[in-house]
Amino acid sequence: MRKKIVAANWKMYGSRAMAKSLCTAIVAANPTHCDVLICPPDPYLSDVADLCGVAGVGVGGQNLSEHIEPGAYTGEVSAAMLADCGAHWVLVGHSERRHYHAESNELVARKFAAALAGGLTPVLCVGEKLAQRQAGETDAVIADQVGAVLDICGIGAFEAGMIAYEPVWAIGTGHAATPQQVQHVHAFIRSQLEKEDARIARLTRLLYGGSVKAANAAELFAQPDVDGGLIGGASLVASDFLEICAAAR
Ligand code: PEP
Repeated sequence: MRKKIVAANWKMYGSRAMAKSLCTAIVAANPTHCDVLICPPDPYLSDVADLCGVAGVGVGGQNLSEHIEPGAYTGEVSAAMLADCGAHWVLVGHSERRHYHAESNELVARKFAAALAGGLTPVLCVGEKLAQRQAGETDAVIADQVGAVLDICGIGAFEAGMIAYEPVWAIGTGHAATPQQVQHVHAFIRSQLEKEDARIARLTRLLYGGSVKAANAAELFAQPDVDGGLIGGASLVASDFLEICAAAR
């Protein structure tokens, strides 16, 4: 069976000292039964890559510019720059980017393409808002978010990529989606990919994110179409994160 992957999104939290102590604890625990990916704030990427890269822990950015070539884009960071600092992965379209920075499906798809062009593996984040779920629009919202990337990049773009299903109402709220809700959406995403290419659909790793903690991780990870988790709050405390990794067997 394929290893699960447990990814940490530190968001805009921490310090160099915290990054060092979290990485040291993760490397010391050496959770080899699952793949681990850490997405720190950009200024800590090189430190995290130095500390964790040698131990086989993946390192990723949380966002990137849609521009591939260097240019006058103040404040932006390109895929090549992330790679230069040791990243191999990058989150694209996290709900906080979509909502606080008005990133459209189309812009997210262009960022996905820029990640690939710069040699990074993108992790496409998708998810519905509470009102959309209550209106029965979940599948349609997800189909549009995944569809925008398929339109611009094609199914081949998912050969190495991952998709993280993160319902907006579950992120940072303490209210995770139920295992049944998660399995439904993951199976729906896989069937959307399957229409394009059955092999790639099988290979694409689908992560769940949204209030995952040690207490609910095992049941979520046990769903047939759940290949791991994207962890926010609980990734900021080494023991909590490592307990979640332990559940990813
Ligand atoms: C996230 O930020 O991607 C996330 C899943 O956060 P949390 O685990 O805190 O809900």
